[in-house]
Amino acid sequence: MKTIVLASNNKHKIKEIKEILGNVNILSLEEIGYRDEIEETGSTFEENATIKAEAIHKFLKEKNLSYPVMADDSGLCCEGLNGSPGVYSARYAGNHDDKANREKVIKELKGKTKEAYFVCDIVYIDEEGKKKNYVGKTFGEIIEEEKGRTDFGYDCIFYSKDLKKTFGEAEEEEKNEVSHRRRAIEELKKEL
Ligand code: IMP
Repeated sequence: MKTIVLASNNKHKIKEIKEILGNVNILSLEEIGYRDEIEETGSTFEENATIKAEAIHKFLKEKNLSYPVMADDSGLCCEGLNGSPGVYSARYAGNHDDKANREKVIKELKGKTKEAYFVCDIVYIDEEGKKKNYVGKTFGEIIEEEKGRTDFGYDCIFYSKDLKKTFGEAEEEEKNEVSHRRRAIEELKKEL
């Protein structure tokens, strides 16, 4: 079975990726003994995913371990805000406060088009150091009133065109069927 190192310790992401890729063993950063904080200083999703993937690729090389690496970066892009919050999605209102981030987006979108999409960029570096990039998007509209679970990012104000409800109202499995991350992972899967 193929083993891939995922540049994350997020249990949800690991589970989702395993389910989609199927016959693949995923190792988290914890499992390879990587404990440093990776600063996401890029101005695009691809740059941020590359920074993470390259840091882990370098770490593995130093340990004489030969595994492919995958890293992802994702966020919300609003048409009416020229793509913002974009790479700043997690800290749009200054700190990692989902509610404050949502309120800022809603306020800034007053009088503007509500069209928006989530994007996920996956950078994959194979055993030989060859880098590839995969992108997945899911489309919707920002609504002003929160609907459904409020525990993750912009889910409760993102009305999905595929699901005809907000991501906050959708079951996890339903959302995972149409999510940006799902679509990016499916692109990667085609080439594994
Ligand atoms: P990450 O790169 O997956 O950590 O996502 C960065 C930020 O984008 C998160 O903290 C959320 O604010 C936002 N985001 C990414 N994906 C989603 C999603 O599926 N639902 C809601 N918010 C999301």
